[in-house]
Amino acid sequence: MPILHSFAPAPQPGLPEEIDGLPMRALPWTQATGRDTAHLYERVKAVIPAVEWQFFAPYVEAINALKRERNAVILAHNYQTPEIYHCVADVVGDSLQLAREAAKTSAAVIVQCGVHFMAETSKILNPDKTVLIPDGRAGCSLAQSITGEDVRLLRERFPGVPVVTYVNTSADVKAESDICCTSSNAAAVVESLGAETVIFLPDEYLATYVASKTRVKLITWKGHCEVHERFTGEELRQFRESDPSIEIIAHPECPPDVIAQADFTGSTASMIDWVRGRRPKRVVMVTECSMADNVQAELPEVEFVRPCNLCPHMKRITLPKILDSLLDLKEEVVVDPMTAIRARRAVERMVHLKS
Ligand code: SF4
Repeated sequence: MPILHSFAPAPQPGLPEEIDGLPMRALPWTQATGRDTAHLYERVKAVIPAVEWQFFAPYVEAINALKRERNAVILAHNYQTPEIYHCVADVVGDSLQLAREAAKTSAAVIVQCGVHFMAETSKILNPDKTVLIPDGRAGCSLAQSITGEDVRLLRERFPGVPVVTYVNTSADVKAESDICCTSSNAAAVVESLGAETVIFLPDEYLATYVASKTRVKLITWKGHCEVHERFTGEELRQFRESDPSIEIIAHPECPPDVIAQADFTGSTASMIDWVRGRRPKRVVMVTECSMADNVQAELPEVEFVRPCNLCPHMKRITLPKILDSLLDLKEEVVVDPMTAIRARRAVERMVHLKS
């Protein structure tokens, strides 16, 4: 179905550009640390050189000990770096998988290794638990593209039209929504409402992709992921020209000319499942770079061609900051209780949606 309208976001303050992963507490490497973490190094040795592991291992050991003491669970998004994803995380996945696990956990403390809207989602689903993010400045260009006030204005302009918002939004925006979605379930969520027209916010490219999968008409917003919007169909055509047997898989936050070049399009979790199931010889994974590293660690026989775009917000999360977060119980994520109640309705409606 065609996109009906597309609205521009109001100007927002600039996103942070700095990436600072310097250690805050110096932890020494010892032979004992090497021995005790050897089983974890096995998981990442395909992507982390031994010399780098000597820096990571003391933090991995300290974090794993401290999280047991704190009764904490570490949730890590697929875009986290391999030493976090494979060596300290208890649960890994895309936004939907992390939201589902956040809803189920019995831990007292949740450490969210991802960006701020993900930590807010965990807090919304667990109002009585302590939710921490190791660096509160880890934002998201999509989440910053729209406010709760923008959604209220759209509702006034299109009375009675239901609002679906991507989870990459603030708690204020979720609170104004009928239901949330992720890139895994967006088309199913849109269709679950039984409406002819839906306001779908804020990712314009995800909306274009969803519109190709449903007969529901979509009213959209001009929000973009600053990582995925940088890929181009032209660079993918060049990869294919240089090796016609190469497989290309892309995330639906990419522009339409990129999606048009892909053999498969799906959420980060579906992309990983696709590679695990198909075991291609060479694959271009068109999404944030660390995900290819994480899958490469598991499947060293697959050659990943990386048109590499890093998310500067995801990369704010580092092992030293996770350790500091657990030691000092910072930075605690706070959501206004009334906003949380309304946002929870939209998130839970998505989490409980039958696929
Ligand atoms: S990759 Fe894009 S959508 Fe994901 S957190 Fe970074 S800016 Fe946001």
